[in-house]
Amino acid sequence: MKIDVTEIIDQPGASISFSETGRIALGEGNEDIATPAPFTVKGVATSTGEGIYVQANIRGTVGLTCSRCLREFEMPIEFDCEGRFVEDPEELELDDDEDDVETFAMTDGYCVLDDLVQHGLVLNIPMKPLCDEECKGLCDTCGVNLNETTCQCGGPGAQATLFGRKLLEALEERGKKNGSSKEEDF
Ligand SMILES: [Zn+2]
Ligand SMILES: [Zn+2]
Repeated sequence: MKIDVTEIIDQPGASISFSETGRIALGEGNEDIATPAPFTVKGVATSTGEGIYVQANIRGTVGLTCSRCLREFEMPIEFDCEGRFVEDPEELELDDDEDDVETFAMTDGYCVLDDLVQHGLVLNIPMKPLCDEECKGLCDTCGVNLNETTCQCGGPGAQATLFGRKLLEALEERGKKNGSSKEEDF
């Protein structure tokens, strides 16, 4: 998804508005974010003389993995994002690093919106995504999904109890095999 800014690039102050819909391809380091549906990117591109300043509203759907129950789920997302596109970002970085607007490379008179969307997604997706605020997650002990079933192990922290029960069962088994009960040994 990209916008052609060749018309305004040499006219500082000139701007064009745009509205694009398309699939977003996320680059390396974002393998945990799926983009199962097209995104809509609406905004204004303004020529600054040094490059193009883009302000956009971004709407789409992302596929994430719940940090509690590990289920994959889709989440609608909408946010505003800004960025600066220049022919040679490395050159600009040297004398202009006082503001925090992200800078992207312009390619042959085009601003690639995927770069802007990707940058905005990373800032707007929760660090620990939840399929639901109320997600009960997985049992720490037996690993069942507590949203789907009631845990049989006694719940988190029941490890010692579970171990104790297993030990009792083992002792009972041994008792049966020996054909004698503990009481008789005393
Ligand atoms: Zn969950
Ligand atoms: Zn459990």
